[in-house]
Amino acid sequence: MDVERQMQNQESQNHSKTGKPQLVVISAPSGAGKTTICKILAERNPDFRISISATTRPPRKTETDGVDYFFISEEEFLKRVEAGEFLEYENVHGHYYGTLRKNVESLLKQGFTVLFDIDVNGAIKIKKQFPEAILIFIRPPSLEELKKRLRERQTEDPQEIERRLQRLPEEYAKAVLFDYDIVNDDLMATVAQIEDIIRTHQRKEQDHVSN
Ligand code: ADP
Ligand code: 5GP
Repeated sequence: MDVERQMQNQESQNHSKTGKPQLVVISAPSGAGKTTICKILAERNPDFRISISATTRPPRKTETDGVDYFFISEEEFLKRVEAGEFLEYENVHGHYYGTLRKNVESLLKQGFTVLFDIDVNGAIKIKKQFPEAILIFIRPPSLEELKKRLRERQTEDPQEIERRLQRLPEEYAKAVLFDYDIVNDDLMATVAQIEDIIRTHQRKEQDHVSN
């Protein structure tokens, strides 16, 4: 199925909306837990949708095209860059990843809160375009725990894990630009904390409109 058809599938599912749609960007070092957190947030909150990125990275065994990512060739990715289809894109760990403008605009228009699981540089680019976006940086409880999560995920070999860990200093340095900085120790406590942040922003905007 092509990217456009898959985007329509994501949009047409039923939902109910409970507040002003927000843009919520969740960034973290690889293995800290952001993908797991975003999936649980979207499962528990019918008014939340994850922005599905396009990537040139090959799919992992557990991943589905059009659900986890739109897996496309480098040629197609660069064509879409030329056509201005990305809100932002980055080369992360040696592969291209990008947020599709049309996808995000359509979800917002339908009233969904959009969750972005993207890298720190992508997060900063989103904030420049949407100053109201909520930027949340997720940390692992320790470096040892991060390594353990990466090993136990069993999706990258030791060399690729090392490559991902080399990006840590750049990622931690940019955490200061985020609105929130959270340690993902207990998974469900982290999810609840993020839900609380989003609902608080929604309430504040609601109060602002009614005053
Ligand atoms: P990321 O998307 O940040 O690279 P993942 O969501 O893939 O990270 O999580 C990496 C691994 O850590 C996964 O196997 C996930 O199940 C696990 N994990 C995520 N959060 C926690 C947590 N709070 N405690 C223990 N394991 C976790
Ligand atoms: P992974 O290969 O582990 O799925 O993702 C690698 C990194 O790329 C993660 O930090 C992830 O958040 C980031 N990423 C995924 N999609 C995008 C995107 O559309 N834009 C940017 N800038 N980063 C992305």
